[in-house]
Amino acid sequence: MQIIDQIYIDGAFVTPHGDELFDLFNPSTEQVIGRVRLADAEDARVAIAAAKRAFPAFSRTSKAERIDMLKRMHAAVVAKEDELFDAIVEEYGAPVSRGRWMARHASDVLLEAVKVLEHYAFERRAGSAQVVMQPLGVAGLITPWNSDAGFICGKLAAALAAGCTAVIKPSEMSALQTRVVTEALHQAGLPAGAFNIVTGRGETVGAEISAHPDIAKLSFTGSTAVGKTILRTAAETLKRVTLELGGKSPMMILDDADFDEAVPLALQAGFMNSGQACIAGTRILVPRSRLVEFEAKIVAAVAQVKSGDPRDLHTSIGPMVSRKQWERVQRYIGIGIDEGARLIAGGEGRPDGVDAGWFVRPTIFSDVRNDMTIAREEIFGPVLSIIAYRDTEDAIAIANDTPYGLQAYVCSADTKRASAVAARIEAGRVLVNTLAHEPAAPFGGFKQSGIGREYGAFGLEAFVEPKALLGTM
Ligand code: NAD
Repeated sequence: MQIIDQIYIDGAFVTPHGDELFDLFNPSTEQVIGRVRLADAEDARVAIAAAKRAFPAFSRTSKAERIDMLKRMHAAVVAKEDELFDAIVEEYGAPVSRGRWMARHASDVLLEAVKVLEHYAFERRAGSAQVVMQPLGVAGLITPWNSDAGFICGKLAAALAAGCTAVIKPSEMSALQTRVVTEALHQAGLPAGAFNIVTGRGETVGAEISAHPDIAKLSFTGSTAVGKTILRTAAETLKRVTLELGGKSPMMILDDADFDEAVPLALQAGFMNSGQACIAGTRILVPRSRLVEFEAKIVAAVAQVKSGDPRDLHTSIGPMVSRKQWERVQRYIGIGIDEGARLIAGGEGRPDGVDAGWFVRPTIFSDVRNDMTIAREEIFGPVLSIIAYRDTEDAIAIANDTPYGLQAYVCSADTKRASAVAARIEAGRVLVNTLAHEPAAPFGGFKQSGIGREYGAFGLEAFVEPKALLGTM
């Protein structure tokens, strides 16, 4: 039983003013494995004050100094990689291969920020004016549970690279992972107050950060519903806001695709991060003329997908993070059945032979219409919908007929043809015949998948504002 009773403010681990105790679970066993004492709005205010005090000096640090800090942070997180991996598997239930990737990703993003900063021009010319990209001030960074360390380090790296100081509010469900990351980042020896980490509830700590006049910038990753609340709250003080929200990404299988390649790609894109991924390819668009063939192949392939013990090397789908999340996914499977979609794999309940843990059967529906609930709403679990289309025009129309626009996938034997389709998709990222990640490329959503971009130079730019100086040259 791990007790976490400290938060991180002004360069020190301190006891929070908040006194609510929150249970932490191992989602594979449903056992309580720890307890975290949650911060409250008062703690958020103290953290914001610390970040505000640190900002004037921090914002004037040189590029070289900040590169050096990011490198120290990177080394410190690398040194804790095994500990972080253990916390990810225990508290989040990521299968070991995914958990290892996640633990590595947390340090990688710090190094990526170094590369961006090295090439970023803070001073430019516009006609006779000098333009200075000036850090915005104190950044509020609010992160979800589905990649705790990666989001904390990624957002913090961009904020610090830009010269902002930060207050981070991670998910209350990820306190064990957050503790490992916080201890690592503390080791990096940054100036006190440069970053502060206050684990607490969204409605208290998150709301305080979203409303506080001393927060200049908000960067939020989470659900679309909460993103809208944050945007409304932030409007009062005209904060700059970056929102990374939900998705209902299309996996477009063009009629010339080789199904031996497309089917494994579709399953990986759909079930990545145990289906708890905003970028999951959950709507599989298949040409009606080849539907029977596609169904046969995907049914055979999904039979090999193991949902179960994340420490088993054969497992590719771990448990849902919480009982609430498990119940939500079960509810959507029931809705799919009630709406008349045809179950071709999986279904309600736990996988065969599993009697504890928040495990879901890898589930695939066919005969899904794009106006059904399971095709419109984000399920956030391993539940995929096959939607048949007539021709490429129809496929493009279906792909774009969604309130979301985060990511899309196109599979085709002809890259040129796939690229022409990709050009017509309303999404922040379109992946053609690949699932590769490119950290230098912007990431974020069209439509209700969000506002703004993260990663690379676009991600850093979200933490600065141009200031024009005339008569200085
Ligand atoms: P969530 O929106 O409930 O919570 C995200 C964070 O916001 C948490 O830290 C939470 O405590 C906080 N929060 C909740 N209410 C708040 C409020 N009123 N004010 C301020 N902060 C508040 O989402 P979740 O359940 O933690 O994560 C799952 C959702 O996140 C999914 O819908 C998924 O699509 C989305 N997500 C998006 C991305 C992306 O990059 N686009 C990445 C991961 C997850």
